[in-house]
This record gives sequence, C-alpha cells and structure tokens, in this order.
Amino acid sequence: MELRYSESEEQFRAQLREWLEATLPTLSPEPGREAWPERRTWDTDWQRRLFDAGYAGLAWPSEFGGRGASPTEQLVFLEETTRARAPYVGVNFVGTLHAGPTLIAEGTDEQKSAHLPRILRGDEVWCQGFSEPGAGSDLASLRTRADRDGDDYVLNGQKIWCSFGQIADFGEFLVRTDPNAPKHKGISWLILPMDTPGIDVRPLRTVLGSSEFSEVFLNDVRVPVGNRVGAENDGWRVTNVTLSFERGTAFVSELVDSLRLVEDVAPLVTDPAYRRELGRCAAEFDGLWALTKRSISQAVRHGAPGAGAMVTKLAYSEARQRFGELCLRVLDRGALAIDGNELVEERLRTLALTIAAGASQIQRNIVSERVLGLPREPR
Ligand SMILES: Cc1cc2nc3c(=O)[nH]c(=O)nc-3n(C[C@H](O)[C@H](O)[C@H](O)COP(=O)(O)OP(=O)(O)OC[C@H]3O[C@@H](n4cnc5c(N)ncnc54)[C@H](O)[C@@H]3O)c2cc1C
Repeated sequence: MELRYSESEEQFRAQLREWLEATLPTLSPEPGREAWPERRTWDTDWQRRLFDAGYAGLAWPSEFGGRGASPTEQLVFLEETTRARAPYVGVNFVGTLHAGPTLIAEGTDEQKSAHLPRILRGDEVWCQGFSEPGAGSDLASLRTRADRDGDDYVLNGQKIWCSFGQIADFGEFLVRTDPNAPKHKGISWLILPMDTPGIDVRPLRTVLGSSEFSEVFLNDVRVPVGNRVGAENDGWRVTNVTLSFERGTAFVSELVDSLRLVEDVAPLVTDPAYRRELGRCAAEFDGLWALTKRSISQAVRHGAPGAGAMVTKLAYSEARQRFGELCLRVLDRGALAIDGNELVEERLRTLALTIAAGASQIQRNIVSERVLGLPREPR
C-alpha cells in the first residue's frame, strides 16, 4: 500500500491550486437557497469552468470529455478544492457522481455520446427516480409500471424524495417491466427526459424550509424503449452499479468537507470537555480519510477497493451526526438563530445522511452479509 503522493501527482496539485487561486475570485455570489433556476445556472457555470480547464469528470474516459485521471489524482482534486473552498458539485450530483458513471459502465455507445459530454459541460442536469412511497430500503418492491407499447414504454406510478427533480433535464428511473416476475427480476433502468408530457413534479418542504426534494407523478408517460440502460428486466443489476457509485464515491467529498468544518469550529470551542470531543471527531474523520486513501490505493493495485469502502459511508454518516450534535452544544443558545447559521443547518442536514443512499440499518446488513459473511437476514 502506498499512501504518499508521487511527483507527478504533486505537480497536478500545484497546477490545480494555481488554477483555483485564479478562478475562484471571479465567481459571482452564490444565489439564495430557494432560487432554483439561478442555482442551476450558478452550479452549471462552475461545472463548465471545470470542464473548460480540464478538471471535469476526472475519472471519466477522455473520449467523453473526461480526464482519464488516476483515483489518486481524484483524491488530490478533492483535497485541493476543499482546501480552497471551491463550490461543490451542486444540483447535478446525480449526473456527475452516479448516473454518468452508470452510463459509462452500462450504457450503449449512443447513450454515452448523447449524455456524457453534456453532463460534463454542465448542459444537462439529472435527478434520480428510485424511491417510492412504499419502496425505500426495500427498493426492489417498487411499483411504478412500464408497459410496452410498440417502441415505447408507458409509465404510470409515483416517485418520492427526488432531489432537484424540479430543475432536472433527465432522470435515472427504475420501473417495473414485468409485474409477474420475482421482484428483483422485473425491473428496468430508464433514462427519462423530464419534459415528457405526463410528468408532474411537486416539490416537498423539508425541516429547513427548503424544497430540494420532489414527488414525481407519472401518468401515461411515453418513453422510447431505446432509453433503457441494460437489458429489459435486468435493471436490478444496473441499479447496484448505480448504488455502488452513489455509496462509494459520492460521500468522499463530504468527508473532506468535514475536515474543513472541524477547523472552522475549533476556534469557537474553549471548554476542555468539548475540545476533547472535538478532538475525537477530528480523529474519526482523519481515520476515515486514511481509510478512503487505503481503499483507493487498493483499487489502483487490485482493481477493487476492498472492504473498507463498504464501511466508509456508514461510519462517516454517523460520525458526522456526532460532530453536528457537538456543534449545537457549542453554539448553545446561539443555535436558536437557525437562519443563515451554517452549523445549525448542517446539524439538521446531517440527520439525512444516515438515510440517504441506503439507511444505516441497511448498510449494517450489507456489511454483515457481504464483508463479514454472517447469515443473511430472513426474507
Ligand atoms: C438527503 C436525501 C436525498 C435523497 N435523494 C433521493 C433521490 O434523489 N432519489 C430517490 O429516489 N431517493 C432519494 N432519497 C430517498 C432514500 O433513498 C430513502 O429515504 C432511503 O432509501 C430510505 O427509504 P425510506 O425513506 O422509504 O425509509 P424506510 O425504508 O421506510 O425505512 C425506515 C426505517 O426503517 C429501517 N429499516 C427498513 N428496513 C429495514 C431492515 N430490513 N432491517 C432493519 N431496519 C430497516 C430503515 O433503516 C429506517 O431507519 C433521498 C433521501 C435523503 C435523506
């Protein structure tokens, strides 16, 4: 295992740092939380700048506009962008972090060339339509139907918790194409243009008063069969490809961001007992960062990230909640001023981390069954 950076990786770091120093001061102020069209423009403008400078889609093949960079260079990218407080991937996290990678792994040549360069350039924003009111942890019980009619599927059903659905151009949607097959065997993975007639996107309000989630109602929505990724009824396998990206890589930048937040909070903490707790949180994040580097080093050498990657999301989401809870105690009565207080909002937001991309209980089942080899949960 090699955890040190090579000379060429350090060179990449220096160039990136220089670019960030020159570029970040030229960004306009970030728009308000609920100004959705403006947020889309702002986030995709950043994506476009990354693309133009050769920093978009670091791991993506160069034929689709990516950089074909090594996993270690991706780590350097995350370290440097976080250090410089550069914008996060924003409203197109689905497109850049898991729909795009799924298309690279499973899409046809036509699907790849239609979508990948546009995602990287910031021209296309994606959302995810997996969860349903009766299908979250048990995702395979989803009921949205796709009935074949000539060269189209006709979709009917309801999705929920669709992040940024109101500003997305396309969605990765799971539908039931064979209602008579066992539940894992009758699912297909579709590319859904969000402006198709029959789609009704209704924003939901969160505990923070924000509206990034939507319910999506599908009434006789016609989607060409050519929009299917993978074989008909083989969507559960494709879904697992998507989830491996979502759980594996999508949380790494969050982890780096936590290291930054600890530094921000440290000067506010004077009480020795709280300082001890903060030290423990910092050590946990450092440990998880080392584990991430180890997983990446293993992936580079052996082609697979090893068991560490499977526990990172679980351990990170729970550590981040403990950190958020400590921040609230440090702020004490100041915590009542919720509006505009990053730490208070963070605490509320982190409540979602142990649910998003698979709840902690489900992650524990996966780790116990797939890593530790314990008996399967009775089904
Ligand atoms: C920030 C955030 C963003 C999201 N974005 C999207 C999105 O863009 N698109 C999308 O499709 N979905 C999205 N989701 C939804 C997310 O995938 C689901 O919330 C998640 O899978 C849990 O499903 P559920 O909410 O139906 O909870 P449930 O499945 O009803 O679970 C409720 C509780 O029961 C527990 N539980 C369930 N089954 C078991 C079991 N077998 N053993 C032990 N405990 C169990 C769970 O762990 C949980 O604590 C998002 C969620 C969050 C929080």
